[in-house]
Amino acid sequence: MTAARSGVVYLVGAGPGDPGLMTVRAVELVASAEVILHDRLIPPGALDGARGDAELIYVGKRPGASQMPQEEIERLMVERARAGRSVVRLKGGDPFVFGRGGEEAEALAVAEVPFEVVPGVTAGVAAPAYAGIPLTHREDASAVAFVTAHEDPGKDGPLLLDWEALARFPGTLVLYMGVKRLPEVAERLVRAGRDAGEPSAAVERGTMAGQRTVTATLAELPAAAAAAGLHPPAIVITGPVAARRETIGWLERRPLHGLRVVVTRARAQASGLAATLRALGAEVVELPAIRIVPRLDSAEVRDAVQSIHTYALVCLTSPNGVSLLFDALAEAGRDARALANATVAAIGPGTAAALAEHGIGADVVPEQSIAEALVEALRDFDVADRPVLVARAAEARDVLPNALRERGANVDVVALYETVAEEPDPAAIEAARDADYVTFTSSSTVRNLIAAVGDGFPVHARVVSIGPVTSDAARQAGLDVDVEADRHDPEGLVDALVADVAAG
Ligand code: SAH
Repeated sequence: MTAARSGVVYLVGAGPGDPGLMTVRAVELVASAEVILHDRLIPPGALDGARGDAELIYVGKRPGASQMPQEEIERLMVERARAGRSVVRLKGGDPFVFGRGGEEAEALAVAEVPFEVVPGVTAGVAAPAYAGIPLTHREDASAVAFVTAHEDPGKDGPLLLDWEALARFPGTLVLYMGVKRLPEVAERLVRAGRDAGEPSAAVERGTMAGQRTVTATLAELPAAAAAAGLHPPAIVITGPVAARRETIGWLERRPLHGLRVVVTRARAQASGLAATLRALGAEVVELPAIRIVPRLDSAEVRDAVQSIHTYALVCLTSPNGVSLLFDALAEAGRDARALANATVAAIGPGTAAALAEHGIGADVVPEQSIAEALVEALRDFDVADRPVLVARAAEARDVLPNALRERGANVDVVALYETVAEEPDPAAIEAARDADYVTFTSSSTVRNLIAAVGDGFPVHARVVSIGPVTSDAARQAGLDVDVEADRHDPEGLVDALVADVAAG
């Protein structure tokens, strides 16, 4: 990875809004910069990877206040760079496409401050791509014009564009513009001779959650956009290519398109589930209900780790447990070889996969990730008078240790971690209010979410549970469980959710 150099200003495009469309270079520079000056239209989470000690300066518009003056932004960049700091100026889309990046580069050149420019995916290319509108097409258009028809906050007068030239332009027009200007723009283009019946589209929030596209003829687009209540930011595309959306439009065809899904897992584990749901088109609200607090320094954990080679059977009941057990082993200067003599049992495929990452192929893995299934899978394993370790969460059920004890085993139960309630983010609670689905991956997520949001629980949402134990906890909390996964792991939960959507 190439880090931001001190004393250098990087003019960086952050792309149109989908975090996945930030370039690798942009992510690297954000991660290493000492100062970041950023706009409003940058992807959600774009600054998550910034250094803890980075100075983050918001220079965009604030509600009810005006934007930081351009000269002030330029002065800040020059000053911070001259103080020897690495500076990232992070802008939506591409810095040199209607982003005043040119002016900022000039100011830096004049001040003799070294700078680099990192291009980004511009909204005028990204929004049509996500809307299924190819900007060029061998049959329709062999030229594209990027046009700004933007309201300048300073001047509310008429737009100063060469309408005749735009009307004559032999290809696709891509208009970066405020939605309020649409009636004026369409009218002037048609008056200047552009075909009133030309296929056109307006794409709101291109590549972001909740992207919407309205299509109509050029003359009818303003009314259609108004009827749909389109808001900024939006891109307008006009040209025969716009009609191709009918065939090519792909975004809306994804199985979870248009659905808002709440993920209640602990933040550290949520990302995999959230990413899978997003890839299927869902808008994901991460509302972590629990946090995992390791408990590796307890005497019971230390004793178990010291004598782990003496157990005949070692049972692990979650991927968290696996990763923490190996942390504890490492801390004690031990590794996977300490398990060489034991039979290793995993409660389900997810836990087995976590073991495999540490070089251990689990000997016993029930298909259903539930304690009863593990008890059943261990039926033929003779545990009488033998030492057994159950390494798990503090607040787990006692089904497994009790069953093993009944069969005569000497069971040690150690808690590798506990799950505690997470302080919920008010913005996430708000976003969750009109969710379509709420997913629960454990009983503790149910209990803690209910405790956290109380009667703020999304009223219309269908409840999806990872398995019967979680479902019971949900019903005890007064929820109706609409969907229960057949396979009790995150993939199984996603499959069940998709099937529920498909069933309508
Ligand atoms: N430098 C940016 C453009 C800045 S001008 C870029 O390269 O994308 C701001 C205008 O860009 C907005 O008014 C809107 O017309 C357009 N825009 C930016 N992001 C957008 C998005 N995600 N969807 C639709 N239009 C967008």
